[in-house]
Amino acid sequence: MNAVAILIDNGTVIDGLGNPPFLASVLIEQGRISAVGPEAATRAASFDDKVSIDASGLTVMPGLIDAHCHLAFDDAESNSELFFQRRNALSALVASYNAKKLIRAGVTGMLDPDSTFENMIDLRDAIETGVVEGPRMACGAYALITSIGGTAGRLIADRGVTGYYMAVSGDDEIRAEVRRQIKHGADWIKVHVTGVVPRLAHRGEMCAWTDHELALICETAHELDTPVMGHCRGADATLRATNAGFDLLLHATLMDEKTLEAVVARKVPLVPTLTFQANLSEFGAKVGSNPALMELFERELIDSAPMLTEAYRAGVPLLCGSESGFSMVPYGHWHYREMEVFVNHLGLTPLEAIRCATSEGSLALRLDGKVGRIEAGCEADLMVLDGNPAQDVSLLGEIERIRHVIIRGELQDLSPLPSRQPLPGWRVGTIGNQLTRDVAFGD
Ligand SMILES: [Zn+2]
Repeated sequence: MNAVAILIDNGTVIDGLGNPPFLASVLIEQGRISAVGPEAATRAASFDDKVSIDASGLTVMPGLIDAHCHLAFDDAESNSELFFQRRNALSALVASYNAKKLIRAGVTGMLDPDSTFENMIDLRDAIETGVVEGPRMACGAYALITSIGGTAGRLIADRGVTGYYMAVSGDDEIRAEVRRQIKHGADWIKVHVTGVVPRLAHRGEMCAWTDHELALICETAHELDTPVMGHCRGADATLRATNAGFDLLLHATLMDEKTLEAVVARKVPLVPTLTFQANLSEFGAKVGSNPALMELFERELIDSAPMLTEAYRAGVPLLCGSESGFSMVPYGHWHYREMEVFVNHLGLTPLEAIRCATSEGSLALRLDGKVGRIEAGCEADLMVLDGNPAQDVSLLGEIERIRHVIIRGELQDLSPLPSRQPLPGWRVGTIGNQLTRDVAFGD
């Protein structure tokens, strides 16, 4: 629906900046918020062609920005299916279906760090030009790794592309790949700073790059006005990525004092993405997760909370990411969940957590200060919902409360999606659990 203006009348506004909610009307013109407060209605009176939304008793707030979401992964149940079973065009088509689930969950912006076939570059372009519907999107291409790989051990080839990864070796290859990705449309360069060595798995994720290589990636990307984000777990890798000049860190868990100091000094935005850990540790048993993995992830959550809290209190931007794209965090269900984790584990107030999921998220979109807030002059990406998330952010998970979603100043279709059948050859089938004689004949 493309009206000249949209007036959202008389709602309770949460501005996304952490201010207390206030009663106001909001006017949208030409894709932007043009007025908030008494001026909105006065100005709106001069428009013949406008849509009016009565928001009395409802909340008006910026749409959520999910700063860590993999739209190409289609709620993968295993790495194998992502690495060996997906097709390029079909996964992009499926992603455009899934993008609509995000809209219906109140997500109006997202950062997609890496994708199979780097095809989320194409989805972003299709959304931006109005070919398909979807949230405002920024994206990376293939995640850069060394031959150590990321978190999938020996499934990852020693050279070249596996799934959403690209292994690079040596300065020339690093420079060439960074430049190639930027040429083809990456908004961000994504680096898997840490990886798991199967034989050294007890050490956790280890830094897989030299300091020189990390700095070279940043230098090459920055020369082309492109920021760099890193997947980092552990104090050592987080410190080295920070010192190398990374612009955003995903996870940044298990920091120590020295790392915290460096992160605070540079105010590197962090996307802890603890939703995955919280879901696995809290609900893993319901979906048959391995108890050892559940315990490991619960530890990561508990052990990382104090340093992340300190970082936030010292002025480091914390952004909300869901890691949706995996079966533990399916699209449309958990995009609000990081706010809940920030409130329950990091001690943020609901309004602070909402700020992390809205105005702070603008950093992920490279639209700092221009989206994620209800303020005159900002892009009109917002939602209207029944309930007061300033008291309880969990309400944002109840998508039946969402009455309207507006992206780029346009009202979005929230009608139920057509149901979808399983795609042939898309998932890895398992034969079943181990049929020992005890299982077969025991009680
Ligand atoms: Zn991720």
